[in-house]
Amino acid sequence: MKDKKFETQAIRSQMERSQNNEHSTPLYLTSSFVFDTAEEMRAAFNDESEDFIYSRYTNPSNNEFVNKVCLLEGAEAGVALASGMAAIYTTFMALLKSGDHIVSCSSVFGATHAIFTKYFPKLNISHSYFNIKDPNSIEKLIKPETRFIYLETPTNPAIELIDLEFVASIAKKHKVLLIVDNCFATPYLQQPIKLGADLVIHSATKYMDGQGRVLGGVVVGKKELVNDIYLFGRITGPSMSPFNAWVLSKSLETLAVRMDRHCENALFVAEALEKNPALENVSYPFLNSHPHHSIAKKQMKAGGGIITITIKGGYETAKKFLDKLKMIKISPNLGDTRTIVTHPASSTHSKLSEEERLSVGIVPGLIRISIGLEHKDDILNDILQALK
Ligand SMILES: *Cc1c(COP(=O)(O)O)cnc(C)c1O
Repeated sequence: MKDKKFETQAIRSQMERSQNNEHSTPLYLTSSFVFDTAEEMRAAFNDESEDFIYSRYTNPSNNEFVNKVCLLEGAEAGVALASGMAAIYTTFMALLKSGDHIVSCSSVFGATHAIFTKYFPKLNISHSYFNIKDPNSIEKLIKPETRFIYLETPTNPAIELIDLEFVASIAKKHKVLLIVDNCFATPYLQQPIKLGADLVIHSATKYMDGQGRVLGGVVVGKKELVNDIYLFGRITGPSMSPFNAWVLSKSLETLAVRMDRHCENALFVAEALEKNPALENVSYPFLNSHPHHSIAKKQMKAGGGIITITIKGGYETAKKFLDKLKMIKISPNLGDTRTIVTHPASSTHSKLSEEERLSVGIVPGLIRISIGLEHKDDILNDILQALK
């Protein structure tokens, strides 16, 4: 499958057919597996065979999903976990020990920020933040005890970008790992491992499922790192449900066509809103006006499905706008077939101080719109009527 194109890999990499010769692969809802002999069970437990043992460890449905993500990201190995946060936390706990330090972009997902600030101190693990706008500040933050650089690009919710090849070169120079949360871009638009990242993490809950049905997370990358993460997950238990893996494996079959449409709709809405007098700013990586447009062109196939708008008049006007939307719903999720809006300053990022919010571009009038797959005219018209 390695010689095939993305779309073909996403559709054709399936587990082997069973004796029933099914066309679409079945769901393996079983918590454990049986052995014909005591010797077979002994061999499986001692890593001398690939036989399935127990679904907290591995399961055929999970393997199909993981193998597919590995192909799409160009990774050697991977592990599926119960949610994006399970993938992030399991990765951290498998790789870090007391006394370690990490360097991260400050505009990380809210729950990831909470791990750094609330739980890392208990474990004597420290972190230093860099601003995504200032890649040259990263090198100065690296210490002898630094284990990895962690980042998201495009960032949530301000849609800022960083040059992955540049950060990978710093990581290599200082012999630290580079870990990328690639949730916003998906492997269809950006493949960080090909640009030098060691591990890539996804909240599969977002675009990978893309239809707002299941939670899931996955981490892929270098085999020896993934083995440690797999073992930690297998022992501590945040495994992905086989049902969710089965849903996600099928969802990936349509990732490319969905992303093409998300990107087409998002660019259309962003361009149409750019000159709107009610707005202070419209941000989308593939707009010429985006400050990181050249990075976007270099490392992304298209701009993704998320745009942000900044409404004149701050929070009060932003609230009125949200309440006036008719079709588009307010929800914390993103990457869905349905267009979704969020007001980050009052919800997902309300636990940050005003100063912290402003430093990562979250002004009171900022609204994140996850552009869905409805007709682009209907999405735009709902936004325009609410802006009036
Ligand atoms: C949603 C999200 C996560 C967390 O994923 P869950 O599946 O909700 O646990 C992590 N990173 C980013 C960028 C996200 O958008």
